Amino acid sequence: MSFFEAEEPEFSTFVLGNAPLKKLAGGFDWVEGPVWFGDHDCLLFSDIPNDRILRWSPTLGVTTFREPSNFANGNTRDREGRLVTCEHGTRRVTRTEHDGSVTVIADSYEGKRLNSPNDVVVTSDGAIWFTDPHYGIGSDYEGTRSEQELPCNVYRVDPRSGDVRAVLTDFNCPNGLAFSPDERRLYVADTGRMFTDDPRHIRAFDVAADWTLTGGGVFHAISPGCADGMRVDAVGNLWSSAGDGVHCIAPDGRRLGKILVPETVSNICFGGRHRHRLFITATTSIYAVSLAIRGGTRPQAGA
Ligand code: MG
Repeated sequence: MSFFEAEEPEFSTFVLGNAPLKKLAGGFDWVEGPVWFGDHDCLLFSDIPNDRILRWSPTLGVTTFREPSNFANGNTRDREGRLVTCEHGTRRVTRTEHDGSVTVIADSYEGKRLNSPNDVVVTSDGAIWFTDPHYGIGSDYEGTRSEQELPCNVYRVDPRSGDVRAVLTDFNCPNGLAFSPDERRLYVADTGRMFTDDPRHIRAFDVAADWTLTGGGVFHAISPGCADGMRVDAVGNLWSSAGDGVHCIAPDGRRLGKILVPETVSNICFGGRHRHRLFITATTSIYAVSLAIRGGTRPQAGA
């Protein structure tokens, strides 16, 4: 039985009929934050409850990149290729410099501590955008239980001044985020509180030339599960995590099809030499599948 499930005819142009869904490694607790480093031929990903960032490479398998990781979650690379990481435990976003030192990008807003930065993208101007839900401070599992001081906002860090500004303030729990290839549209998932009737959808915002956001209507409601992590491909399809795998959603909001994955998917990224390989973090394992489409050209695509 195929793990590709087409729901619209064009889905077949984005997937390969004979490419396997490969399990690359397993035995983790809750993996998230995949990011591809083509220059090192490896994938970095977070194993959040075990407080570590791991590295998978085709030649070495899984090795440890950083432990402890301050309960790191989302990862991406900036315009200079540096690793940018969301940390639950220290309630901050950091950048790992080329010499290995770690710089704090954001840890507070208007004098209050961030909640637990979850996912992050970098736009072509070098700005860092991240979501700040409360998942990492609600228990001692994916961070440390502590007091929430701020609403669950989406922030933008100015590339020149370093100023942190809340740009979206009407979310329940913002989670994954991704820009369209032309950066004129921003997708942000709202995943709410688990096991409640809170929203489980993706909202779409129009992005102006000065990066201000308008709109924000519901673009697509994920079912089953929720849109934790998302990436955009080269033609603008949004690939989103879901309860039963990865969903492919066209720019007009229609779901084109699914990649069925045996475990609940948290996040994805494009990688491999041609950036046509989709890496999938799913509960206790990481998977990969080659697609007939490449990842978007911006660094937000995680590569
Ligand atoms: Mg997430």
